[in-house]
Amino acid sequence: PCYNEAKNIERLCQEVDQVFKKIAVPYELILVNDGSQDDTLAVAYSQIKRYPIKIVQLSRNYGKEIALSAGIDHAEGDVTVIIDADLQHPPVFIEDFYKHWQAGYDMIYGYRVSRNDEPFLKRCFVKFFYGLMNIGQTRKITPNTLDFRMMDKKIITAMQAMPESNRFMKGLYSWVGFTNIGIPVDIPEIGRASCRERV
Ligand code: UDP
Ligand code: MG
Repeated sequence: PCYNEAKNIERLCQEVDQVFKKIAVPYELILVNDGSQDDTLAVAYSQIKRYPIKIVQLSRNYGKEIALSAGIDHAEGDVTVIIDADLQHPPVFIEDFYKHWQAGYDMIYGYRVSRNDEPFLKRCFVKFFYGLMNIGQTRKITPNTLDFRMMDKKIITAMQAMPESNRFMKGLYSWVGFTNIGIPVDIPEIGRASCRERV
């Protein structure tokens, strides 16, 4: 998902390409332009000659959850990685995710090591949010998980078949089931000051 990420796209493409070259796996990078107002689309096009990129252009800004769904709808590989475009999900972790997929896990998700860098009130709200979402649920949503994750084709197929248009992706990941494992991910500072902060 890309919303006003013109300054990050080139480096994202580079780092993603590097990791897939390292593990010697062919890939396709799907950039979903979620109604950006900056040069995201032009920069994405400029990378097409260098990297295997597919661009999905949304007609306006729909928000990250819908941008993610649009990307998932276009995913065709045996395995799919969901990754933020602002480099807060370091592509180098894909190598580790891939090893776990080869070992038989269907979903490998990153989780935040700590939220101690965030304001106290935000941490309280996040705790309250997950507590509330999990009341009475048989399939709990693990707190502090990231959208940064690798999923086997069978999970992608299950998600593509879901009719919901207004989605909470972390709820759906948990709902679809299959075997899963978490990997601790350190979130770099890049983009943190973003005013688009969310749970
Ligand atoms: N994003 C998007 N649409 C939006 C807001 C964000 O596609 O309306 C993308 C954004 O470009 C980034 C990812 O979703 O790749 C996460 O967004 P952000 O960095 O704002 O979220 P945070 O890091 O605060 O979770
Ligand atoms: Mg971010």
